[in-house]
Amino acid sequence: MAIHEMFCETETAAEVLFVCADEACGRRVVVGKSRPRLTVIDRGDFSASHVGSLGGVVVDGIEAA
Ligand SMILES: [Zn+2]
Repeated sequence: MAIHEMFCETETAAEVLFVCADEACGRRVVVGKSRPRLTVIDRGDFSASHVGSLGGVVVDGIEAA
């Protein structure tokens, strides 16, 4: 299974936008900072496993939704 790394593209006080580094995939998710919340904007390559981090803290479940 392919592993894609997601990076923080932009953020607000409450949320962070993560984008997949693989341009052919294009997965985008919004992760809440204060509350554990994940909103998928673009599903991207659903077969790939996505990992991401925020300030050194791994975002759990970023690959789950
Ligand atoms: Zn991806």
